[in-house]
Amino acid sequence: MVKGVRLPEDRRVKTIAVDFDGVIHAYSRGYLDGSIYDEPADGAIDALRELMEDYAVFIFTARDVLSVAAWLHERGFRVVTENPTEPVWKIQGILLVTQTKYVAEIYIDDRGLRFEDWDQTLADVKRLVKS
Ligand SMILES: [Mg+2]
Repeated sequence: MVKGVRLPEDRRVKTIAVDFDGVIHAYSRGYLDGSIYDEPADGAIDALRELMEDYAVFIFTARDVLSVAAWLHERGFRVVTENPTEPVWKIQGILLVTQTKYVAEIYIDDRGLRFEDWDQTLADVKRLVKS
């Protein structure tokens, strides 16, 4: 394994999932033609690096993972995309880009809604989603 990478057997390593559009990629004009056209969101690159110092981090996106991986690689990240046969989503030091919702402690997403119970959730949906 690569130097600086902590293995999944290390139970201290927790996993954080991070959305791409609107969180890492500024996405200031929405989806458009599907290309990754924007700069990183303010503070995103430093924040990702900081998270990766303490956690295993994977990027969870509906986008083509190779495009997202190339964009992140250009910005200095070690990235993997292949469907992992080992639990890469638990390995610290490499950024997995995936469309699979692996287990994580937290999912960071600009469109997330924290579920507490269904009464709160239905009320929040009504309040936040305008028809
Ligand atoms: Mg998003």
